Amino acid sequence: MKTIVLNSRPKGKPTSSDFKCITEDIELTLQKGEILLEAAYVSVDPYLRGRMSDAKSYIPPFELHRPIQSGVVAKVIASKNVVFEVGDFVSGMLDWKTKQVSIGAGLLKVDASKAPLSTYLGILGMTGLTAYLGLNKIGKPKAGETLVVSGAAGAVGSVVGQIAKILGLHVIGIAGTDEKIDMLKDKFGFDAGINYKTSKNIKEDIAKAAPNGVDIYFDNVGGPISDAVLFNINRFARIVVCGAISVYNNTELPKSISVQPFLVKNSALMQGFIVSNYVDEFPEAMQHLSGWLAEGKLTYTETIVDGFENIPNAFIDLFDGKNKGKMVVKI
Ligand code: NDP
Repeated sequence: MKTIVLNSRPKGKPTSSDFKCITEDIELTLQKGEILLEAAYVSVDPYLRGRMSDAKSYIPPFELHRPIQSGVVAKVIASKNVVFEVGDFVSGMLDWKTKQVSIGAGLLKVDASKAPLSTYLGILGMTGLTAYLGLNKIGKPKAGETLVVSGAAGAVGSVVGQIAKILGLHVIGIAGTDEKIDMLKDKFGFDAGINYKTSKNIKEDIAKAAPNGVDIYFDNVGGPISDAVLFNINRFARIVVCGAISVYNNTELPKSISVQPFLVKNSALMQGFIVSNYVDEFPEAMQHLSGWLAEGKLTYTETIVDGFENIPNAFIDLFDGKNKGKMVVKI
């Protein structure tokens, strides 16, 4: 049995030495009510970086030398729990372990015959829900409006843009390679894309791509990209602050423009979003996501890395943009 623990709190960008893979030769036995799980797919997510630091946040930090947790799809390989049968697949927050014992609390059964198991960590999981709920609850999209999404070729961003297209918006995505920009337009139906790494002037490129201005900005990255969008927002614009990956590894406070003048002169709304605040709305959101997926209106891409030991590197690679769509590790 293998476990990955947090070996040290990353300083700046995480490195492989911040993680340690421990192999133990122990037999896991079950008490009444428990199930034995074998990991099938492990999700790596930018937000885990926050939990690796000990700063106060909306969820407690990971403890040093203890297993890291994230979304995991696992197979029930033994059961003393009436709810779960051997052969069931479940999804939930679990330890980075090849095998573990659980009482089943917080685990959802997932159906391998309805969708590939990895999708329950992506489009039919936390990142799909984030896209749907962040866009609808804070973005409040209306047909004919213009939406800009940063981190557009990632798990959340690629779904935000597609949902906005379904709802009749003009959609512009910002991402870090030309290949990703082509994917946004060709595979996901975005109207335009901007490569922030090669753009000479992002502010002007956004203005060109959004001749009517920006009504909704779905922000996954923060930093200078988001500053450039602010120069282009319309009156009553909505800014969904979903994430800020460009600053997660900062060791000093970032230099940023002051957002207040932009918000005041445009009567704009800027609101932080945390998907777990909307648990009651997950079933309805999931109905829309799975319905659009079945109808072929929504699609997805995944970057699947093989091997339990590669979980830390897959996580680190998120900060270099190595993924297209959802990054998951197949065990
Ligand atoms: P992604 O799949 O988008 O992966 C991260 C992507 O971020 C990379 O592929 C990379 O793409 C981009 N990136 C990395 N570094 C930078 C940088 N310095 N500047 C700009 N872009 C960068 O991850 P997710 O879709 O899972 O998450 C997207 C955002 O949403 C994150 O900020 C995450 O924390 C947040 N989130 C928030 C949730 C909430 O409830 N609030 C829930 C889920 C996610 P590129 O090649 O384009 O640079």
